[in-house]
Amino acid sequence: MHVHTLIIGAGPGGLACARTLAEKKISTLVLERKKIIGPKVCAGGITWSGLISRVPEELAEKSFPIQHIRTPWQKVRIAEQTPIIATVNREKLGQQMARQAMEAGAIIRTGVIVRTIKKRAVLVQDRTSGKNEEISFDYLVGADGSSSLVRRHLGLPSRRLGIGINYQIPGNLKQMEWHLNNRLFGNGYAWIFPHSDTVSIGAYADKETRGPTELKTSLLSWAASQGFELDNHRARAEYINYDFQGWNFGHTFLIGDAAGLASGLTGEGIYPAIVSGEQAALTIVDQNHNRNIMDRLIGKHDQHSRMVKLSAKNGFLNSLLAELVTLGLRSGMVKFNKLEMAV
Ligand SMILES: Cc1cc2nc3c(=O)[nH]c(=O)nc-3n(C[C@H](O)[C@H](O)[C@H](O)COP(=O)(O)OP(=O)(O)OC[C@H]3O[C@@H](n4cnc5c(N)ncnc54)[C@H](O)[C@@H]3O)c2cc1C
Repeated sequence: MHVHTLIIGAGPGGLACARTLAEKKISTLVLERKKIIGPKVCAGGITWSGLISRVPEELAEKSFPIQHIRTPWQKVRIAEQTPIIATVNREKLGQQMARQAMEAGAIIRTGVIVRTIKKRAVLVQDRTSGKNEEISFDYLVGADGSSSLVRRHLGLPSRRLGIGINYQIPGNLKQMEWHLNNRLFGNGYAWIFPHSDTVSIGAYADKETRGPTELKTSLLSWAASQGFELDNHRARAEYINYDFQGWNFGHTFLIGDAAGLASGLTGEGIYPAIVSGEQAALTIVDQNHNRNIMDRLIGKHDQHSRMVKLSAKNGFLNSLLAELVTLGLRSGMVKFNKLEMAV
């Protein structure tokens, strides 16, 4: 089998890329190893400026014009006229994006894992039948997340990683909260993100400052102090790649987490995945496509990475930075959208 563009991975990045290519009448095949599109370890928070233009509003489970930020020294409430963040269910988001891509003409095959990448072809295995197949392509898009095979094929190790741990527990809460505490979470944070009938409780930290075990221990003790007993619930954790080393490698593209485009500061990765997916598609269609949007996204990503580097240097500096940023948010001198990946 031969396709013009082969996309590995049906996350938000791969699906946005597929829809954009198919709308331009490019023959596009997406291969996804999971049998169901969408489910992913994630808090499901989407910054509003990113959501409005990219994702149908009706997918929002809850939206929050008020944010609550806690540090060891401050309790801050930020209120805007319009929502700052919304929560989405990743399965519903995935299903909606897959529908759009297929309506535009893309083919999506699930339960198919890419095992080997060759120069202009991949060897894949159908997980149900066990059958192997070779598929050749003109262009390859690595949308295969933070442990990307395509990235390894390009010889690019991922050294800068964040760790996200999530518990999705039943509940109907109203308040979205961010808890910054260097002693517990290094230069990361813990969150409480309410969904329609569940709540995402979790923590994010740069791998250099907190290992997975240490982060989980901190998360459990912090959650207990907030009245959440998580011991009987299932923790799910994944790395978030923020080691960006390029996205356009001629006939091969990397997007989203595979490219390391998630924010190292906040772990926000849905928006950069969607935008980089669309921009990679437009570049495949026209090599002279204007790179402004990608350049702005990369600029924003660099800013976040610099802040991570600075705050990882020592605990005191990190605590000071966290208090200063929170103070800035409280006084209105720092706008919340400065911390978003939306460009
Ligand atoms: C705990 C946690 C909380 C998070 N919370 C948020 C949040 O609130 N907001 C936010 O914006 N971001 C959040 N993120 C980050 C976000 O989930 C990712 O950045 C985003 O999903 C990246 O999208 P993607 O399309 O690049 O990759 P992914 O969503 O990871 O999709 C990659 C796809 O590729 C498939 N795949 C991989 N290898 C193969 C292969 N060999 N063959 C076939 N298929 C393959 C995978 O099965 C997967 O479906 C969080 C992450 C974690 C871990």
